[in-house]
This record gives sequence, structure tokens and C-alpha cells, in this order.
Amino acid sequence: MEYEGHFGADELYIKMKSSDSNISRATVYNTLELLAQCELLSKRNFGENKTRYESNVGKTSHDHLICTNCGAIKEFSEPKIQKIVKEISSEIGFDSTGYSFNIFGKCTNPNCGQNKNAK
Ligand SMILES: [Zn+2]
Ligand SMILES: [Zn+2]
Repeated sequence: MEYEGHFGADELYIKMKSSDSNISRATVYNTLELLAQCELLSKRNFGENKTRYESNVGKTSHDHLICTNCGAIKEFSEPKIQKIVKEISSEIGFDSTGYSFNIFGKCTNPNCGQNKNAK
């Protein structure tokens, strides 16, 4: 829950392993799934064929801008989007349990693209 930002199950597993934890990979995966079901974590998919998680604790609902060049992820909160989701759902007669809204593009960071492996 203390992990800042958006992480994959493998990243968390490697991090826990490097801090001398005996946790198994399956336990990490299963626990993340469970926490997501309890809505303590949000599951994200930023179009990379990989599920990422982020803590919901102390966070308001927000959406993301993803730089396809350097992988930077920025967050924003826009109540209008939530309103639209509600409106469309009730118009069509749909009980929405969540939505995902991602904006892809290139960030304005001058270092963008220089360190492709940095997250
Ligand atoms: Zn986020
Ligand atoms: Zn970038």
C-alpha cells in the first residue's frame, strides 16, 4: 500500500525479494488480486499488455496521461469525466462498476526519450 505510483506485480515481487522477503511470486500475484477485489488497489492497463496496480488509500479517483516515448505517467482528476460516465451509463441502462480513461502521447519533459528505461 506504500508503493508510490503505478507498479506491476513483477516489480513488486522483485522489490520484496531484494528486501530479503521469502514471499513467493504466486502470493504476490494472489494478494494483489485480492486487494484489487477489495478496492484497496486499482488495476490499471496503460496499453502495454501489462496490468499495473496502484494504491487507493488516500487517493481520489483520477485518470492518466501516458507518455508513449519515455513511459512517464501523469495523473489528473476531472469530475466532468465521471459525470459523463454516469450520464452515459444511465442513458443506456448500464450499471457501471468502473471505467478507464487514458490519454496517450508525448510529455513535455525536456529529458523525454533520453532515458527510456527509467520509470
Ligand atoms: Zn494513478
Ligand atoms: Zn515522455
